[in-house]
Amino acid sequence: NRKIVLNQRPQGEIQEGDLLLKEEPVRDIRDGEVLVQTLWLSLDPYMRPRMNDSKGYMDPIGIGEPIVGESVARVIESKSDKYQVGDIVTCYSGWQEYCSFPGDAPMVYKVDAGSVPLQAYLGVAGMPGRTGYCGLMYVGKPKAGETVVVSAASGPVGTVVGQTAKQQGCRVVGVAGGEEKCRFVVEELGFDACVDYKAGNLEADLKAACPDGIDVYFENVGGEVTRAVAKLLNKGSRVPICGYVSAYNAEDASKVETPFHVFGAMGENKPEHRFFLVTEWQDKHQEITKLLADQVASGKLKYRETVAEGLENAPEAFKGMLKGKNFGKQLVHIAD
Ligand code: NDP
Repeated sequence: NRKIVLNQRPQGEIQEGDLLLKEEPVRDIRDGEVLVQTLWLSLDPYMRPRMNDSKGYMDPIGIGEPIVGESVARVIESKSDKYQVGDIVTCYSGWQEYCSFPGDAPMVYKVDAGSVPLQAYLGVAGMPGRTGYCGLMYVGKPKAGETVVVSAASGPVGTVVGQTAKQQGCRVVGVAGGEEKCRFVVEELGFDACVDYKAGNLEADLKAACPDGIDVYFENVGGEVTRAVAKLLNKGSRVPICGYVSAYNAEDASKVETPFHVFGAMGENKPEHRFFLVTEWQDKHQEITKLLADQVASGKLKYRETVAEGLENAPEAFKGMLKGKNFGKQLVHIAD
């Protein structure tokens, strides 16, 4: 069993020696357990803060432990009556090729292997997709005619936020890094506009794209995008704070200007609402997964993926994702 473990906690950007590839025999499973083989591994921004020695909404990864992560996996041995050999599941296997767990372990879901590509259950029809959908609908509460802005617009969260907001009749403006991503967001995903924050004219470009101001800002990145958005927020606006990836590699998190500083400074009218998918809407897991998977199957929900081949390439792909090298959902393909 090859796995990638946390060897030492990264200081700032991940460096050589922080993550290590290890190999161990696959252990025999006990009564009640299942053994799965990872097919697709999801790389997600939240994994970087989990490498730090600070407690967020979940515990830090222990030294020597595999990096956390969700995968699509196949049951290859079962001593549980809940699973049969051949079942396809999503589970938090971590960055490893095989994983075993009790048949009643939480956060393991069988998936319908027929209707959509399996890896979509890690992207727009998976955790990031549910995050975008729930954060927008239940926190952002968009109304027809309003202007919705979403950052990291070409990623799986942003992709679902924008297309869902279009379905609600909103004017949708994305923010993304580079001309190619912006073109994709408008031409393929159907947003009304997309601002390239790397083009050097962020404030003016965002203002031009939002002539009636901003009613909902779905926060994914923080930093200069947040500052530019804050100047354009309308009275009564909502800001679902999903994440702020621009700060995830910070050497000292206490020195980072977060969206809470920026929006919190708006006093009584502060529009922020921090949310976490896993603590708020687990009861909607199946319902929203089906809703999004059906849209993928019918071609209504468009998306893009970047695939790294082999577990050994996960660290480089992950480092790249935190700098926007991915285009759409970043996956690692492990086995067929
Ligand atoms: P993405 O696939 O969109 O990858 C991250 C993207 O962030 C990069 O592609 C890059 O896009 C952008 N980015 C990186 N650095 C910067 C920067 N300095 N300034 C602006 N943009 C930057 O990720 P996801 O769609 O998976 O996740 C999006 C957000 O959602 C993250 O913040 C994540 O932590 C959060 N999240 C929160 C959850 C919750 O429950 N609250 C659950 C799941 C995700 P570009 O090239 O366009 O800059």
